[in-house]
Amino acid sequence: MSENKDQKFVYDFTEGNKDLKDLLGGKGANLAEMTNLGLPVPPGFTITTEACKVYLDSGEEPAALRDEVSAHLDALEQRMGKKLGQTDDPLLVSVRSGAKFSMPGMMDTVLNIGLSDKSVEGLAGQAGDERFAWDSYRRLIQMFGKTVLGVDGELFEEALDEAKEAKKVTVDTDLDASDLKKLVKQFKKIVKSETGRDFPQDPREQMDLAIKAVFDSWNGDRAKLYRRQERIPGDLGTAVNVCSMVFGNLGPDSGTGVAFTRDPASGHQGVYGDYLQNAQGEDVVAGIRNTVPLADLESIDKKSYDQLMQIMETLETHYKDLCDIEFTIERGRLWMLQTRVGKRTAGAAFRIATQLVDQGLIDEAEALQRVTGAQLAQLMFPRFDEAAQVEKLGRGIAASPGAAVGKAVFDSYTAVKWSRSGEKVILIRRETNPDDLDGMIAAEGILTSRGGKTSHAAVVARGMGKTCVCGAEELEVDTKRRRMTVNGTVVEEGDVVSIDGSTGKVYLGEVPVVPSPVVEYFEGRMHAGADDADELVQAVHRIMAYADRVRRLRVRANADNAEDALRARRFGAQGIGLCRTEHMFLGERREMVEKLILADTDDEREEALKALLPLQKKDFVELFEAMDGLPVTVRLLDPPLHEFLPDITELSVRVALAEARKDANENDLRLLQAVHRLHEQNPMLGLRGVRLGLVIPGLFTMQVRAIAEAAAERRNAKGDPRAEIMIPLVGTVQELEIVREEAEEVIAEVEARTGVELKLALGTMIELPRAALTAAQIAEAAEFFSFGTNDLTQTVWGFSRDDVEASFFTAYLEKGIFGVSPFETIDKDGVGSLVRNAAAAGRATRPDLKLGVCGEHGGDPESVHFFHEVGLDYVSCSPFRIPVARLEAGRAAAQSSGSDSR
Ligand code: PEP
Ligand code: MG
Repeated sequence: MSENKDQKFVYDFTEGNKDLKDLLGGKGANLAEMTNLGLPVPPGFTITTEACKVYLDSGEEPAALRDEVSAHLDALEQRMGKKLGQTDDPLLVSVRSGAKFSMPGMMDTVLNIGLSDKSVEGLAGQAGDERFAWDSYRRLIQMFGKTVLGVDGELFEEALDEAKEAKKVTVDTDLDASDLKKLVKQFKKIVKSETGRDFPQDPREQMDLAIKAVFDSWNGDRAKLYRRQERIPGDLGTAVNVCSMVFGNLGPDSGTGVAFTRDPASGHQGVYGDYLQNAQGEDVVAGIRNTVPLADLESIDKKSYDQLMQIMETLETHYKDLCDIEFTIERGRLWMLQTRVGKRTAGAAFRIATQLVDQGLIDEAEALQRVTGAQLAQLMFPRFDEAAQVEKLGRGIAASPGAAVGKAVFDSYTAVKWSRSGEKVILIRRETNPDDLDGMIAAEGILTSRGGKTSHAAVVARGMGKTCVCGAEELEVDTKRRRMTVNGTVVEEGDVVSIDGSTGKVYLGEVPVVPSPVVEYFEGRMHAGADDADELVQAVHRIMAYADRVRRLRVRANADNAEDALRARRFGAQGIGLCRTEHMFLGERREMVEKLILADTDDEREEALKALLPLQKKDFVELFEAMDGLPVTVRLLDPPLHEFLPDITELSVRVALAEARKDANENDLRLLQAVHRLHEQNPMLGLRGVRLGLVIPGLFTMQVRAIAEAAAERRNAKGDPRAEIMIPLVGTVQELEIVREEAEEVIAEVEARTGVELKLALGTMIELPRAALTAAQIAEAAEFFSFGTNDLTQTVWGFSRDDVEASFFTAYLEKGIFGVSPFETIDKDGVGSLVRNAAAAGRATRPDLKLGVCGEHGGDPESVHFFHEVGLDYVSCSPFRIPVARLEAGRAAAQSSGSDSR
């Protein structure tokens, strides 16, 4: 990022607005929006993400930044009538990070900038409260020392603990001014001995260093890990907000709190939040002291409470969404410190979207943008069985829904270690902080004994879609001894516990789970219109109906048997996009395939194929019946033949042992020869797919015959079979032409014999780069293309999909080479570009060419948007992903509506 001469790097809060998140970060943009709405926001300014990007790229702040900051600081000082750090009456500021996407607790904040040995006295005089001034100063040195100067935060904590112990008190509010003065001295000593420099007394130097530290915190380990997890791009940079300080720790008529305009867990309107009297800044979010419910503020300070309720209504109507808010009350005066569209649980997202439609605040297209396929997938997870025999341990706050079972662990390190070895764990902490992020990611669920719905654990878990119960106060968590005690019951590390993030209940042992009501609804076992249908199911039903109404992509299933096909249909599938016939050759039929492979003569081969034919036909009859009236794409046999033979090592040992005993079995010997003959170094690039069909005479034609005869039989039974025959792994049109000719002969023969006109479509998978590159030619011989993005990804990247995910993908993800596995989300620039070009080239040859995708990407939300954009006709995915694909197809269409020409 290079610097542009006229670029403006600093914006006053009065200059921005909520749509400038790219430039001002979420916090800065929303502070500006609230300022412009006339809400009480302490004055301040925002340094842009562009300035951060220049700094991250070049290692230096933009040349113009210092002067711009000076000009804005001057203006701020004039407005406030006092100067930063002024000795008799100091202006103090906070310096806070604020990226485009919220990253709770991941980056740095420094409060009380402007305090020094001199101005602390001035603050004491102005506030009429010496204790407050010294407490603010020790907080500054502590925060500044830790985040700006890189001092180990534990050293300050230990000094604080020692001060409390010396005075025989347990909470820091019991330390008086003279204790805090001593502590400040101690803290300054720590800074000096750890960094070799004095704590800076120049307020401007404090501010400049803090700004730089916020820029640097963008690349801190915690922030990087969080971004990877949340798929936030690494090059956005953070903005920095410099805001005049207001104080919630000036006595009982002051305080600080967090509020939601609706319940982020249920979506219901009401008074939700936490308030902490006589506290500053991050105390609430960090869950350090126990808060009171926001509703209690009404009796503590009715005027501020009423004003807050009114502001909440203004914000919700203005943003047309659930907002979360941070506020401070300074001696009875309310200040808004932050607002943003709040994170919510998956269930609440669906409920809120439909509630807002009913309130007339948003339309259906907008409602679709308020939910995601990932949230829908979360709602399809099972829940605890309410009828089960359970041993309840306690109850906390239902902070993030889901049913999680795992072994109790009491620190992040163990959570990560155990989960790496395949154990499911529940991370149990008194409270979490950003250093627990690894453990939270590794755990099935998170349980804390302190903190409310807005504590770090709750906010982060909700963001990750992870089950969380917090503030379960009956639990006495002893992290040192790795155990917790609940009403006399001791739970040791490794004991199994179950936590319910929807009710807040905590159980000992493993509680069985039952299907989610959303799945019951998709299965047709619960009806959205029924009197007792739950509110969530009704909301899901309505949103799915919006999505189905607007989507252009059709959604099919990858299914190989009638049972899966029927479930897929119930879930809304509009056909089968991929029936993998190799799944029909497993179990007892494997021996028949063995016979085919071992056949020495044409007769033997014919006989083997003849035995397989009726079984294949029966499979297809069942499948066509289940999908009657809808297309069923049957793919001819794809995998290398040796997959149907015994393992080479096992068989070699068996034969060797038998030979040693002199009773070698003739069949085993032949098998072993065949296994050796067919053995390949790289079977995925070997004799498979169409290549197999071309070298094993009669194999593909047997399958085509089975399909044709099954279709004829269904037609005769007054059914409506819509079979499509798909050839795998084609690299050149010649392969397809040969198979096509043979197939057409067989179909014509079945038609003639049965007197049924079959109209079977014949097409190909596009799953090799060469097929994509020669799509124009291949379309001459294909009535449809189905992009096999699994194979296409592995062949474009040169990755073996069976090997690489387990071997080096973790390293690649850690190094940021890709943010997510290309086998999960389509690599738009590489694989995606081949898909886009092949689709266009195919359609140029054959305008009515049907286009679909049947790789795993067909059920991945981000990829579905891409397939919509390149104009495919359908996506095909596993039955369970169908609702997600339907929803995302609807969201994609609603997003691009108007500009969509296909
Ligand atoms: C593909 O390659 O994308 C595909 C669907 O085929 P398979 O996964 O069976 O190789
Ligand atoms: Mg494939």
